[in-house]
Amino acid sequence: MAVALVLERKDVLSLRDIDIPETLGPRDVRVQISTVGICGSDVHYYTHGRIGHFVVEEPMVLGHEGSGVVVEIGAAVTNLKVGDRVCMEPGIPDPTSRASKLGIYNVDPAVTFWATPPVHGCLTPLVVHPAAFTYRLPDNVSFADGAMVEPFAIGVQAAVKAKIKPGDTCVVTGCGPIGIMVALAALGAGAGKVIVSDIAAPKLEIAGRYAGIIPVNVAQSSLRDAVRAECGEGWGADVVFEASGSPRVYDDALAVVRPGGTLVLVGMPVDKVSFDIVAAQAKEITIETVFRYANVYDRAIALIASGKVDLKPLISGTYNFADSIEAFERAASGRPADVKLQIRMM
Ligand SMILES: [Zn+2]
Repeated sequence: MAVALVLERKDVLSLRDIDIPETLGPRDVRVQISTVGICGSDVHYYTHGRIGHFVVEEPMVLGHEGSGVVVEIGAAVTNLKVGDRVCMEPGIPDPTSRASKLGIYNVDPAVTFWATPPVHGCLTPLVVHPAAFTYRLPDNVSFADGAMVEPFAIGVQAAVKAKIKPGDTCVVTGCGPIGIMVALAALGAGAGKVIVSDIAAPKLEIAGRYAGIIPVNVAQSSLRDAVRAECGEGWGADVVFEASGSPRVYDDALAVVRPGGTLVLVGMPVDKVSFDIVAAQAKEITIETVFRYANVYDRAIALIASGKVDLKPLISGTYNFADSIEAFERAASGRPADVKLQIRMM
């Protein structure tokens, strides 16, 4: 038995003992959790009880953005030792699957992912995890940074998919936590400037404090004008990342990408959307999609460790494990200036 933050069902959280049978296999490590970030998906399971066809039908431990310390290693583990500070990639594929063999293990139909029903997450003091999906943190990367690697990895995946070139001008539509991660990953990958648009001012203001990010409040001014001002008449951005999931954004996204540019779809609209295919064809744009990430954790950690990307300003609040329900209530209330809330386990 171990204490954990348990989502009993929609709208009901409890901090209680739960029996999670976990045996340490030869290629696993046991990690004492230090810090866990609260993700939009955790909050959505709390407030809606489901995301798409993933439905909370039994009590589930929340949390998938974790860092901690290795306290035990399996007999065959060679890449980690007891005492290593680490962060964990929460999606575990079947390593023998066709997707895994192709290097696209994030889209392996057999993947299990922390805090996605029915799989328990990491808001509990000890977890067992495959060593192959556990990454050592350099000394200058804190546990708080380590717990930011998971959302930042989505940004890095988007930058990799976009094949960013030095000095690229980018647009990110949507200034939520993921939009900001995408913008910072694009800059880390060599983009010259990134225009970030949203209709909510507080997070735009936070994003705009980073050198290279140009915030545009589309409640007050037009994204098309902002891109024209940066890229000139009749051209556009090299890469547009859609990170809002809002169905209203696609026309603008297609209007501001340059001929031959790339549109990367990161945000997930709830329903089917209408999309102007001819507008995309007329510019022969490349369309890429992102689902979580694969093979980017090392890159994400390296960017943080190098100092090229500083995620600390995005941590809006830190709670003790004992206060984690309060932390979730704050996250669910959606304060406009909150980017990321974290829970400290030790
Ligand atoms: Zn997350």
